[in-house]
Amino acid sequence: MKVTILGLGLFGGGAGAARYFAERGHQVSVTDLRTEQQLEPAVKALAGLPIRYHLGSHPEELFREADLVVVNPGVKPGSPHLAAARAAGVKLTTEINLVFELAKAPIAGVTGSNGKSTTAAMLAAIMQRAGRQMLLGGNLGGSLLGEVEKFPADGLIVMELSSFQLQRLAWTERSPHLAIVTNVTPNHLDWHPNFADYAQAKEQIARFQSQDDFLVTNADCPVASKWSEWSKARVARFSVLSRPPAPAAWLEGGKLVLDLGAGPEEIMPAAELPLPGRHNQANALAAALAAGFLTAEGAGGLWALGFGLSEQPRLPKPKAQGPKPASALSAAIREFKGLPHRLELVAEKNGVRFYNDSIATTPESAIAALESFDCPVALVAGGSDKGVDYAAFGRVAARRADFVALTGPTGPKIRAAIEAAGGGRTRLVDAASFDAACRLAFAAARPGWAVLMSPASASFDEFPNFERRGERFRELTKG
Ligand code: ADP
Repeated sequence: MKVTILGLGLFGGGAGAARYFAERGHQVSVTDLRTEQQLEPAVKALAGLPIRYHLGSHPEELFREADLVVVNPGVKPGSPHLAAARAAGVKLTTEINLVFELAKAPIAGVTGSNGKSTTAAMLAAIMQRAGRQMLLGGNLGGSLLGEVEKFPADGLIVMELSSFQLQRLAWTERSPHLAIVTNVTPNHLDWHPNFADYAQAKEQIARFQSQDDFLVTNADCPVASKWSEWSKARVARFSVLSRPPAPAAWLEGGKLVLDLGAGPEEIMPAAELPLPGRHNQANALAAALAAGFLTAEGAGGLWALGFGLSEQPRLPKPKAQGPKPASALSAAIREFKGLPHRLELVAEKNGVRFYNDSIATTPESAIAALESFDCPVALVAGGSDKGVDYAAFGRVAARRADFVALTGPTGPKIRAAIEAAGGGRTRLVDAASFDAACRLAFAAARPGWAVLMSPASASFDEFPNFERRGERFRELTKG
């Protein structure tokens, strides 16, 4: 086959598809509007494979004369190149669609406007703890194409799916065996013409499900909760706001509770979740409900492996009947410390929790992090200057942080913003370096506090990237 990869990108999907077809002897052409220099890591990853590159432009014949065009999620629906391929009768696919077509194992797909990565990773962690072989991919992490054919049928593939990916998954008329929708709120309206179009793209995750499939949806979300009206799958809802009968997973007396049909089972106190914030309670309920569905006895027969039935010796023995013990879920959720550098719980000492949120290079993401806590917070903020406005961040820090250690070129700007917001009760300290700021915050924190490194700034004043800054924070917490 002549295969054209439309958009190589840097997230691994384009490279995964190029490798997959090249290794199987197909004629692969890769085209991307970016230059070789911009795409260097992806091109390097494909070194040695017989691939033709057309970088910096999209030659028309690559679309008209191909047998198959693999479309990158970054290519907009109105692209003239898609139209040219369609007009020439060329088949279009995506890296995600290929994974769906090639997988022997069932797929659990997670979508939503927020919380996709966290929920997908949490579900994968729970299922792994249950002894099931796992692949985690999609929007999160690299391409699964190389592994998916060899992956056993009794494993589980968890995929985070964006609305762009779902819109094109509809070309295959497939949906995952288990779909989770965390929420649907206005987002990505730069891509979708309107909210209805965006919401409809999200619906693709459940549109082609059958009565043998499962849908986990959010009872608190006015859009996603309505999906039960048309879904053919077995539907269960989670809620942080309401109690049964609407949800099958909910909060009660400060605890996460699950009912898989055999009566309520407590999973764990919400306060003991390693991830902070109400939104993470929702994510945990969604993941727990999905895992409960997947492992409950008699759940569709697809899922012969249950918690206690796995070979993993540390797991409790299965109950004779009914759903599997929620304690196994709770153990997995307690072990899940979050995604690296994203409000990741890296240490807990003397009643203080230490969170690495190095990915928060903008005021908006650091605001979201601060809003997640209801305990006292010692914040580490500041870094290199991208010229953004700190007024809103200053207001939230003044209200939410009890102590702020400031570092880097943005330190004085953040101090000024907190002072301008009347942050009289927030203790502010200027530090000469990132290390010093962390140590000051560690010293300020009392039992019951969180130390939060969420700098609202890039890391380049002291580090090559945000990952290194996060790793340094982790190291300091061990000291
Ligand atoms: P996504 O993969 O959908 O971008 P993530 O799990 O990576 O979501 O979380 C990104 C940010 O979105 C988090 O830092 C948090 O601020 C926010 N968030 C996470 N889960 C939720 C949720 N269930 N509802 C609202 N906001 C959330």
